[in-house]
Amino acid sequence: MRALGFTTGMLGVGSALHGQGASAPVLLLLAFTCLGWPVLAWRLSGASADPLKAEYRNLTIDTGLAGFWIAMAQFDLLPSALLVAVMAMDRTVAGGWALTRRSMGVMAAVALVTAAFNGFAFQPRTQFATMLWSMPFLLLYLLAIGASTRMFADKVRAQKRALEHGSRIDAQTGLATRPQWMALVGAELRRFHRYGSVSSLLMVDIDRFKRINDSAGHLAGDQVIHQVCAILRDGLRSADTAGRYGGDEFGVLLPGTDREAAREVAERLRRAVAAQVAIGGAPVTLSIGVAELATGMDAIEDWTGAADEALYRAKGAGRNCVSA
Ligand code: GH3
Ligand code: MG
Repeated sequence: MRALGFTTGMLGVGSALHGQGASAPVLLLLAFTCLGWPVLAWRLSGASADPLKAEYRNLTIDTGLAGFWIAMAQFDLLPSALLVAVMAMDRTVAGGWALTRRSMGVMAAVALVTAAFNGFAFQPRTQFATMLWSMPFLLLYLLAIGASTRMFADKVRAQKRALEHGSRIDAQTGLATRPQWMALVGAELRRFHRYGSVSSLLMVDIDRFKRINDSAGHLAGDQVIHQVCAILRDGLRSADTAGRYGGDEFGVLLPGTDREAAREVAERLRRAVAAQVAIGGAPVTLSIGVAELATGMDAIEDWTGAADEALYRAKGAGRNCVSA
């Protein structure tokens, strides 16, 4: 963007200087500013330990250079006004008011000093040729800013979508995250208190999971979690929601399901995992606690706590079983 801006932006300045009979060394210096400075700036920020800070400094140097050339071109109106406007806009986008104020101050100061050395030469009237040479800057550079802004906005939108998805869906298992699952449980609780609709929860925990990790390794443990979650996802109706409650503990929300039907769902899941998931020849088993939503459960924790208690009873009863 800097290379494009300087090469197109300085065409108008070059035309004005040429019209004013500028000497060859001055025009050569202008060519160096356009072609050399963007490369040098790129190198400087690339080699810096703090590239962002270096780039802010480059942005300020840009405006100093523009101020120098505006004065050298004796304030020829069209190229000068374009440089001031585009640089002010660029700085505002890149660094807000603070950067704009600072760099425009630098531009004005450099222009003033240069003008003093130049005998305050002042020829603002723009020749037609200079108008023509200013067109590429006006058209190409503004188009490029539009395109790069659009690209940046697309990137931000994609990142926002990914973040939102990540806050709702657990990346490792594809189940709802705990906050997302708890929000659904809360909505079900409110429906119960309003309409008395029946609902149940399952708390599902893999038995002796630490042993699986210790004997077969963490990767095998991850694989077991993955298989169990696939069974949870596929073994439920579309109105049911499984969520990752903790490491090897999962919650299942079963709207419109009473305790006995929930116990059957739990039994089905337990049997499916025992039949399909094994580690070193030994079946992986689940303990499951079931709790039907009942009057007196005013907070989410009352309901999840009841399912947790049932889960602990299932663990106490020797694991690989369902307790309601
Ligand atoms: P219990 O039958 O009483 O539930 O025994 P347990 O060993 O399953 O219970 P505990 O809660 O003590 O152990 C769970 C272990 O699961 C502890 C933790 O290191 C492990 N774990 C949690 N999340 C993950 C994971 O994503 N991958 C793997 N491999 N291990 C996990
Ligand atoms: Mg466990």
